[in-house]
Amino acid sequence: MVASIKPHRDELGLGDGRMLIDGDWVTAADEATWSHVHPATGEQVAEFPVATPADVDRAVKAARRAFDEGPWPHARAGERVRVLRTIADLVREHADELMKLQALDNSVPLSFGEIYAMSPGFVADVFDHHAGWADKIAGETLPPYQGGDHMVLTLREPVGVVGAVIPWNAPLVLFAQKVAPALAAGCTVVLKPSEYATFAVLRLAQLIEETDLPAGVLNVVTGPGDPAGQALISHPMVDKLSFTGSRAVGQKVMVAAAAGCKRVSLELGGKSPSVVFQDADIGTAAAVTMGTVTLGLSGQVCAAQTRALVHRDAVEEFLATAELIGTMVSYGSPFDPEVTSAPLINTRQLDRVLGLIARGQEEGARLVCGGGRADGDELAHGNFVAPTLFADVSNDMSIAREEIFGPVLSVIPFDSEQEAVRLANDTDYGLAATVWTSDVRRAMRMTKAIKAGTVGVNGYQLEPNSPFGGFRQSGLGREGGRAAIESYTELKTVLLPFTDEMM
Ligand code: NAD
Repeated sequence: MVASIKPHRDELGLGDGRMLIDGDWVTAADEATWSHVHPATGEQVAEFPVATPADVDRAVKAARRAFDEGPWPHARAGERVRVLRTIADLVREHADELMKLQALDNSVPLSFGEIYAMSPGFVADVFDHHAGWADKIAGETLPPYQGGDHMVLTLREPVGVVGAVIPWNAPLVLFAQKVAPALAAGCTVVLKPSEYATFAVLRLAQLIEETDLPAGVLNVVTGPGDPAGQALISHPMVDKLSFTGSRAVGQKVMVAAAAGCKRVSLELGGKSPSVVFQDADIGTAAAVTMGTVTLGLSGQVCAAQTRALVHRDAVEEFLATAELIGTMVSYGSPFDPEVTSAPLINTRQLDRVLGLIARGQEEGARLVCGGGRADGDELAHGNFVAPTLFADVSNDMSIAREEIFGPVLSVIPFDSEQEAVRLANDTDYGLAATVWTSDVRRAMRMTKAIKAGTVGVNGYQLEPNSPFGGFRQSGLGREGGRAAIESYTELKTVLLPFTDEMM
C-alpha cells in the first residue's frame, strides 16, 4: 500500500475544518460534515462542514453587509494594494505548508509544485498582479458628442457581492484567480471550494485573516455542489457568479445567473489540441504533450492538450517518444520526492476514465500503452490509472470529443495544414492549443486560425498577468489581465453639465 498520509496530516496539525462566515470560524447549522478521503490511499484525512442553505444565506448576507455598509468598497486604492501585497507575502512565507495541505487534499505530488503554474509562487504572483491593478482601475473622459460645455465621464465601480465556486484540481491557484481580482476591485466574496480540495483553501483564508481585510469581505462555505454550491449560485443577494469547473455545472451556473440577471464568468473544460507539424522538433513536442497529459495531475488539467494532431509522416516518431514518457510516470504518496504524478480524484472519476478508455478500444482506436488501472498491489487503494496512449484515433470517436480528465492522450493523424486547422477547431471547446513547427509563417497562420483562448507556439506556459479563458463551451470571460479585473466592476457613465446653476 502507498505509505500512509496520516503522519503528514499530524505533522501539519491538520484537524477538522470550519467555515469562515462574517469573521467567525463555524460549523454547519445542523453540524453535518464531509469526511475527506485521500485519493492515493483511501484514508480518511479529516472532516469539514457541509454548509446548509441557511449557512450560505448567512455568508451571503455578511458579504452583502460588508459591501453595502463596510469600508472595503470605498477603501483607498493604496489600502487595497497593501492588503493584496500582504496576502502575496503570506503565501510565499507559507508556501511549503500550503503545498503539503494541497497534497493532503488532492494528492498532487510535492515535486509538481516546482512547476511554476502550480506553485505557491504563481499563487502569490496572482495576488501581486492584481495588487498592481487596484490603483489603476480607471474610467475615461469622453468628448461631448453634440457639442456644448458638458463632460462625459465613465467610472468603474465594484460589481458587488461575488459568489465564487472552484474545482478541486488547482485549489490555491483558482482561489487566487477569483479572490485577488474581486478584492482588488473592491468586491466582497463568498467562496465555495470543491468538496474534494478544501483544506488548503481554508488555510489560505486563515492567512488572509492576518491582513487588515474587514470581517465579512471574504467568506468561505464548504461542502458539495448540492446543497452548498446550489444555494450560493441561486442566492438573490449575489451580484456576480464566478465559476471554474466542468461544462455541465457551468451550464447550471449560467441558468442560475439568468434568473437574477447576475453577471457571470465561466472557466470550463477543454479538449485542446497539440498540433505537430513534420518540421517541428518531434521528440520535444511528443515529450511535452504526453508529459502534460500524464505527469503531475494525470491529465486532470483544464488546459491539458489531450488531442495530439500529428502530421502523418511524424506519427511513428511521436508515438515512440510519447510511450517512453509514459514510463516515467511514478505513482505513490504525494510526499515521496520520487513520485511524479497523481491518482484520479475519486472512484467516480476512476470508473468514468476506465469506461472512456474501453469505449476508445470499442470504437477502433489502437492502444499503444496503458489502458487500465496502474499495475502494482501497493496502488490498489488509490485511484491510479496507467498512462494511456491511443493511436489511429479519428476526431469523431468519444475519446477525441469528451473531456476525459485522466492520463489519456489520443493521437490523430493529418495530411495538410488545412486539415490540421479543421480538426483543431472540430470540438465543442476552445480553451488552449499548442502549435509545434519551425516555420514562423505557419506558426502565425495557425495561431490566427485556431479557435482557442490561449495558443502557444512550441510550448505552453500560463502567466499570472495574461488573460486565460475559453472560446465557445470552454467558458465566458478571462482570468488575468485587464479583462479579469474589469469583469469585477460595473461601468457607470456620469454626465457633468457645466450650467451656471452648478457653479
Ligand atoms: P465540477 O464542475 O464537478 O465542480 C466544480 C465546483 O462546482 C465544485 O466546487 C463543486 O462542488 C461545485 N458544484 C457542483 N455542482 C454544483 C451545483 N449544482 N451548483 C453549484 N456548484 C456546484 O468540476 P471538478 O470535477 O471539481 O473540476 C474539473 C473540471 O473543472 C474540469 O471540467 C476542468 O476542465 C475544469 N477546470 C477548468 C479550469 C479553467 O480555468 N478553465 C481550471 C480548472 C478546472
